[in-house]
Amino acid sequence: MVEQAKRTLAYICPECRQSVVIERTAFQLAAAGSELPCPCGKSALKVELAGDRAHLQVPCLFCGTDHSVSCSQRAFLHEHLLAFSCARSGLDCCYVGEEDAVFAAVGRLEEAVDKLEAEAGAKGAFLDELVMHEVLSEIRDIAQRDGISCTCGSHRWNLQVNYSSVDLKCADCGGAMRIPAATASDIEDICCKYTLLIHGREGAGHDGL
Ligand SMILES: [Zn+2]
Ligand SMILES: [Zn+2]
Ligand SMILES: [Zn+2]
Repeated sequence: MVEQAKRTLAYICPECRQSVVIERTAFQLAAAGSELPCPCGKSALKVELAGDRAHLQVPCLFCGTDHSVSCSQRAFLHEHLLAFSCARSGLDCCYVGEEDAVFAAVGRLEEAVDKLEAEAGAKGAFLDELVMHEVLSEIRDIAQRDGISCTCGSHRWNLQVNYSSVDLKCADCGGAMRIPAATASDIEDICCKYTLLIHGREGAGHDGL
């Protein structure tokens, strides 16, 4: 009996900015054109195997368009790790391969994205000035009524402004929360919040409590 080869595919959703990692058997991928959606439902990676080629349509976080890329079906189903990159930014936008390799690669990409976000924010560059301004003023309002706390019990926190998001970090346990500040719907999301709860790092320095 032949074990079904599994393939892992990953991209970062341009809408919710989460990494989407999906596992499929080679059989599932070959059976029909697949649409592999982000759990948020706002973007999807499309895969089509035709002839001896694999065609992918990848939503790209960096330039906001979909990239059409292709490779041989053999590489698509057997390579240890394939990376497809965004021609405009030069950054990777999609990985296909074995589970471990894909998880490692997408982890590095997330770090690169975080770094770019923080660097742009530190320079005062924002994706949308107005959205950032509104989101920050909402956070300020929530902070004024002491509405920001951490699941570890702390009410002390630090704020980091990024390119298209704001990070709140618990000053006691290091837990973090990312608030998107990219689109008008991000303003609506935070407007309806009365409090913000940071998810603390479990088991971090609270012995005996
Ligand atoms: Zn998404
Ligand atoms: Zn791109
Ligand atoms: Zn905490």
